[in-house]
Amino acid sequence: MIIVANWKAKVGSVADAKKLIVASKKLADARIHTVIVAPSAPYLGLFSLENKSKLQFAAQDITLTDGGAQTGEVTGAMLATLKAKYVIIGHSERRALGDTDADVLVKIKHALSSGLIPIVCVGEKERDAEAQYLSVLRSQIDSVYTGIQVKHHDSIILAYEPIWAIGKSASEGITPDDLTEMIQYIRKVLSVYLPPKKVEKVSILYGGAVEPSNAKALASSTGVNGLLVGHASTDSKLFTTLVKALP
Ligand code: PEP
Repeated sequence: MIIVANWKAKVGSVADAKKLIVASKKLADARIHTVIVAPSAPYLGLFSLENKSKLQFAAQDITLTDGGAQTGEVTGAMLATLKAKYVIIGHSERRALGDTDADVLVKIKHALSSGLIPIVCVGEKERDAEAQYLSVLRSQIDSVYTGIQVKHHDSIILAYEPIWAIGKSASEGITPDDLTEMIQYIRKVLSVYLPPKKVEKVSILYGGAVEPSNAKALASSTGVNGLLVGHASTDSKLFTTLVKALP
């Protein structure tokens, strides 16, 4: 399993960040799962010193261009220098602030050209009885795969994150049966772009209301390759329990 801990802007001090890093390192160094922490930008430097641990880290976003006169932005080159391996792109909270599918695509290209692995978030705002939400998801995925070079079609991690589940408690999240269907649907969409063997190899994560109580069920037999965990990743005890519960 690939476990991405998206701290969002919930970790308020270096002291708290360091405590979480210690706990995450223990989980990563158990070598059972790949653990990737996505801290806020000011804490990225804390991870660049961590070269003995198996713990990986990701940025929560990347700028659209190569930098220069862009106050407040973080470039792929900066992240590569810090030895970050991943970057989350297209998180719904960034899309809500204005990132369009076109912006997401530009950011993916920027990340790839910087040698980073994009973790691309897709997901519908709400569900409807006519299943229009499937078209929403399809068009987000199509925008990514029609826009990047074929050689990069297997260089991306997808994270299915239905917006209606994000930030909720486990009881309000997706059921394992529904998640199984969605992962099958996403692989069907991917089969337009990739041969069957490569489709199976694309890592698809699930995120939205993952907590210790539902993590195991969501990760078992649903077809996901990992979980993207938001609020439950910013409490070290909760996050440790969650990761240890995984198959
Ligand atoms: C997220 O925002 O990426 C996320 C998965 O959040 P939460 O786990 O809090 O629903």
